Amino acid sequence: MKRRITLKDIGTLEGQMIDNQKAGLSALPAPLDNPDDEPGIKELTASQKAKFDISLDGVSAIGLVKPQTREEEEEFVKKFISGLKKLLSKENNWTFLQPLMLSLENCAKCQNCSDACPIYTESGRQEIYRPTYRAEVLRRIIRKHLKKEGRLLSRFTGSDIDLNYKTIARLAELSYRCTLCRRCAQSCPIGVDNGLITHEIRKLFSQEMGIAPKELHQLGTVQHLKVGSSTGTSPKALASFIGFIEGELEERTGKSIKLPVDKEGADILLLHNAGEFISWPENIEAFALIFNAAGIDWTLSSKLAAYDAVNYGVWYDDVQLARIAARHAQAAKDLKVNRMMVGECGHAHKAMLVVSDRVLTGDLNIPRESAIPLLEDIVINDRIKLDPGKNRFPVTLHDPCNLVRLSGIVEPQRRIIRKLCPDFREMEPHGVDNYCCGGGSGFAIMDNANFADWRDIVAGRMKLKQILCAFQNVMSPEVHKYVCAPCSNCKGMIRDLLARYKLTEKHGIHYGGLVDLIANAMVDIKGQFINWEAP
Ligand code: SF4
Ligand code: SF4
Repeated sequence: MKRRITLKDIGTLEGQMIDNQKAGLSALPAPLDNPDDEPGIKELTASQKAKFDISLDGVSAIGLVKPQTREEEEEFVKKFISGLKKLLSKENNWTFLQPLMLSLENCAKCQNCSDACPIYTESGRQEIYRPTYRAEVLRRIIRKHLKKEGRLLSRFTGSDIDLNYKTIARLAELSYRCTLCRRCAQSCPIGVDNGLITHEIRKLFSQEMGIAPKELHQLGTVQHLKVGSSTGTSPKALASFIGFIEGELEERTGKSIKLPVDKEGADILLLHNAGEFISWPENIEAFALIFNAAGIDWTLSSKLAAYDAVNYGVWYDDVQLARIAARHAQAAKDLKVNRMMVGECGHAHKAMLVVSDRVLTGDLNIPRESAIPLLEDIVINDRIKLDPGKNRFPVTLHDPCNLVRLSGIVEPQRRIIRKLCPDFREMEPHGVDNYCCGGGSGFAIMDNANFADWRDIVAGRMKLKQILCAFQNVMSPEVHKYVCAPCSNCKGMIRDLLARYKLTEKHGIHYGGLVDLIANAMVDIKGQFINWEAP
């Protein structure tokens, strides 16, 4: 029998701590109930193994290069301790020190949170993925190595963690085995937020040690600030995307609509996740179609960084978050709009509507809202003509964690779907109890080495099960089915899940946004707005 992994093992165990074996994973429902068909997690090549530290679980999310000498290892640990001191000081962590300390000081070790975590349960209850594992490692490092720092830390118990290279390298990887979905926090009787602790660990690694996934930092925030968008779309390229979108919209609907750009004094500055321009232009088209039909006074911005609602700093680094948030608000201020509005992007809701409250003060404190309640108003109050008969296909609804559990926007999207989709099936569980898509906290865009395999097979497993269960009685490929995911990152994750398990091809399961369903029901659009042939 395999020995149970303990906290101490993080600093002592030789080799890989665990192996994500097919056999340990939770069983999938039909039609994916044959374990032999389960795609495995790719083993890294010998040269990758020699270069990268994969001693946690054989997976590399952050591409951590192994140190070559003992001195390098010691330097690595020294930097971590220096970052930890800063993380625990008011001057350096004024944004999150108080909630961090409340969560670090108060865990009752009841383990209610473990059953709430889809990564822990679906992995076959791997000890290292337990929500409290990361937090407890951090507490014990603090207890053992910073306990003289004052009474703030006096309530921590246990000090049996070795502070060495192994511990810190594994903790860095482990901070990217949690989607920051905060389902565990919701289940904790005393409100301990293990998602927040993970976020703070990521922040320490980014700010002090320059360790963050390249997709979030170099290709994300840095590219966003330099080129204009996290997708690499420059303001010049944006102009051609907009031309393309207007042309496609006309072709799709017969309607000639100009997308308003840089309209000074508009009521609303709408910010889309730039991924929509590239991967899902129909989402931008649907917004234009609906807002135009409802007579909304809105505009997009063409200003560097302000045509992309993305703010990846929210997942790993407050400083990076603040830089992007300020650019967004400055663009709104320059355009003299009344309010900023986030389209279908969950993490942008968290960044712009919630966390930015701490950084956007003074004249940058411009009203910031979600587009979902406005869409609800348009649909429920019949501001445009809609025919639910055009949406007679099975629909289920994914609840993006940052939109629903975090921002509390739970019912508006449901009221829209209940009104427009006669065959609406809730996922179980749903609303604030729903599970993360598995692509949260940046996972949807992270694909270093074999990380995407782990993400789809472990982190996305619960979502896959929920989707399959919602459509159990209509699995024929002839019946089009629709997973509505009102978030760009969730859509990317669900796209990858459906592709990995060939669910569109073999079982007719499609995915898309909320506005797509509204546009599809518009009476003055001939035929279907949704393109069922799209991959
Ligand atoms: S539910 Fe809360 S108190 Fe209980 S173990 Fe989890 S974090 Fe600690
Ligand atoms: S935030 Fe989500 S993924 Fe992370 S430990 Fe909690 S439940 Fe698990």
